[in-house]
Amino acid sequence: MKLQEYQSKRLFSKHGVPIPNGDVATKPSEAREVAETLGGPVVVKSQVLVGGRGKAGGIKLAQDPDEAEAYATEILEMNIKGLPVRKVLVDEAANIESEIYLGVVLDRSARRATMMASSEGGVEIEEVAQTKPEAIRKVTVDPFLGLRGYQTLRLAKEIGLRKEQYRSFGRTAQGLYEAFTAYDASLAEINPLVVTGDGELLAVDGKMVLDDNALFRHPDLAKLRDVDAEAPAEREAREAGLSYVKLDGTIGCMVNGAGLAMATMDIIKYFGGSPANFLDIGGGAQADKVATALRLILEDESVEAVLFNIFGGITRCDEVAAGILEAFEETRPTVPLVARLVGTNEEEGREMLKESAYNLTTAKTLVDAARRAVAAAE
Ligand code: GDP
Ligand code: MN
Repeated sequence: MKLQEYQSKRLFSKHGVPIPNGDVATKPSEAREVAETLGGPVVVKSQVLVGGRGKAGGIKLAQDPDEAEAYATEILEMNIKGLPVRKVLVDEAANIESEIYLGVVLDRSARRATMMASSEGGVEIEEVAQTKPEAIRKVTVDPFLGLRGYQTLRLAKEIGLRKEQYRSFGRTAQGLYEAFTAYDASLAEINPLVVTGDGELLAVDGKMVLDDNALFRHPDLAKLRDVDAEAPAEREAREAGLSYVKLDGTIGCMVNGAGLAMATMDIIKYFGGSPANFLDIGGGAQADKVATALRLILEDESVEAVLFNIFGGITRCDEVAAGILEAFEETRPTVPLVARLVGTNEEEGREMLKESAYNLTTAKTLVDAARRAVAAAE
């Protein structure tokens, strides 16, 4: 789950990371009130779950409350990379001398958190990694020892901070690491962490990605989920208990089991096709869950063919077939569909599907099913 900038910064701040004063607004008049309370110049910042808002015109510097209200009006009408802006953050404007990058990510191969810092802040870190990889400095954190003072000192030196800033950089880095672990994040990032005119550090941006599997430990954070900001299909999938990730191919996949879903995507690729999604309907899938899954796949306009790959263990193939037929009534698919059902009650399942009036064929092997789906999508 991604958090909005203002949510991330508030959590960082609880752990001692310095952030600008400010508040969120959903209406231009509220933005004016916040600007009035703060006094002086403010930044009006769109709150959407994508990076590069600055470049997209979603961040504006306002000199006074009138201007803050005008910019809020403009920004609240924007769509940034397809996402409508519903909130703005109004922050005291920072007097920026330089911008650095500071982030903690989970490094899966090291099985540890890694802290990264760079003198090249303000631009996306992926871009720095491409154009100037040596500018990204890293330390790996031992989970039992935590982030050590010598490590943050090393980062501070390597990114060229001044001696006077070492101490506050150390505190900020500790705070960020604490927030990362306290909320079970997979990413906690400040980009940019700015050095102000008076040499202070200030986190003007914040980004956090929380591990969905740990959200049960943070019920208060789970409530922060910005349902409006999610892609509708992903929200519907989550609510139905399906694991769904949209991809950019043309073959819709409906599979039970995450490993089988991965294998299905691989074999589609192997035969020259490309999957439109990853979708795991889970074990023991009920007919209505299958129906929801199929609807999600068919609502995706890039889908040219659908591949069902069902292994009947706990899940019974006839139950899945019933779900598919039920979903057909509702969705009336026009694209070709290929079903491979094996395992418990596979014969019954295949028999049921034969009677379908839609363009559905059944296959006995995954190779056969994948080949047919790829051919059908072409
Ligand atoms: P992003 O574009 O979505 O990553 O949004 P950021 O919050 O990182 O803002 C983008 C850029 O806007 C920053 O790198 C800064 O250069 C600038 N910016 C953000 N906040 C302020 C501020 O308070 N004062 C000034 N002068 N610039 C700011
Ligand atoms: Mn940023």
